[in-house]
Amino acid sequence: MAFPGDGERVTPSGLPARVAAEFPEPLVGRLQSLRREIHANPELSFREEKTAERLARALRDLGIEGARRVANTGVVARVPGREASAPVVALRGDIDALPIQEATGLPFSSTAAGVMHACGHDVHASWAVGAAALLAAQPAAGDVLILLQPAEETGKGALAILESGALDGVAAIFGGHVDRRFEVGQVVADEGPLAASADTFEIELLGAGAHAARPHESHDPIVAAAAIVSALQSIVSRRLNPATPGVVTIGTIQAGSAANIIPDRAVLSGTVRAVEPVSRAQMLDEVRAIATGVASGYGVTARVSVDMGPPPIVNPARTTAWARHAAASVVGSENIVPLGFLNLAGEDFAHYMQRLPGCFLRIGARESGGPVVPAHAPTFYAAEESLFVGAAVLAECARVASAALASGTAA
Ligand SMILES: [Zn+2]
Ligand SMILES: [Zn+2]
Repeated sequence: MAFPGDGERVTPSGLPARVAAEFPEPLVGRLQSLRREIHANPELSFREEKTAERLARALRDLGIEGARRVANTGVVARVPGREASAPVVALRGDIDALPIQEATGLPFSSTAAGVMHACGHDVHASWAVGAAALLAAQPAAGDVLILLQPAEETGKGALAILESGALDGVAAIFGGHVDRRFEVGQVVADEGPLAASADTFEIELLGAGAHAARPHESHDPIVAAAAIVSALQSIVSRRLNPATPGVVTIGTIQAGSAANIIPDRAVLSGTVRAVEPVSRAQMLDEVRAIATGVASGYGVTARVSVDMGPPPIVNPARTTAWARHAAASVVGSENIVPLGFLNLAGEDFAHYMQRLPGCFLRIGARESGGPVVPAHAPTFYAAEESLFVGAAVLAECARVASAALASGTAA
């Protein structure tokens, strides 16, 4: 299988004219090497030691001073703007990988067994560095904070960054995700829902064990678990307004030790996805109510615990207008495309948007004629050219937002 950029240096010739013009050849090579190095050396959430070091070095090599570690394995740096007093805008790239064995066949495939950049964060990290280079060459009105965030995949990294205070005083934040549903050069900058909330729950069922041949002496948690799994399906089909997207999935069931023993305990875990705060709360309430209600009908006790993940991302009108304007000036307005069907994946960028205005984009990452591969698949990769589009679009988002904020049009 052939991949774009295989073996040789990618040239920006296949890129939109404005994007190609922004990247001198030495920068193209640097960013390509950086992306490939990060892809080949993936690290899991909050273990991105070498990745953080490599990114900090890349920023220093570009002449961007003061890169520093935050939130354990995060890195921030400021690219100075034209006016010291103008509002600060942040650009975020996440940097962590997933526990997946890579199967892309890329020449720069993962060298770490069972760990892979299957969500494209190798590209996100590199485009944040690329945006820094572009902003150093053509500054925004105010300073731009380059934020390289760890641990997106566990939903904890953005919170750690916020707790570190690294975003204190920042006026707006922009970020994006590679997406192979869209071709390189296409950008989604839709107002409204763009990612779902992603909460996880665990249901522990406590019954009474017995010999498998004497079920009347048990309170069988496996039969209760089966009933609960079926009953939970009625949340989306019977409780949720059908005009509102939502998902309840059970991902694990653990119980028992032998075919002839009824165990005393079963544990289920799953996830709830929603795009509206009301339906999110409703679905979590229903999980609790159904689990405890059904369990009690089987003489079993249910303990339900919920781990609240990122809220939904809902892009607001004003910041999305800035992002659309910025993206259109880079890739052309004909390449600003609608999201189409909402993907109910979660994205912890949502935590930032609860604290400050911003916009989250989808950046096309499928080479022309290439397959649509979902993120988190062992064959997922982002076309190399998406790195340059993402960098140019994010840099321009920072310039447009910074100018609007500095002129007070967005007070
Ligand atoms: Zn992911
Ligand atoms: Zn991701």
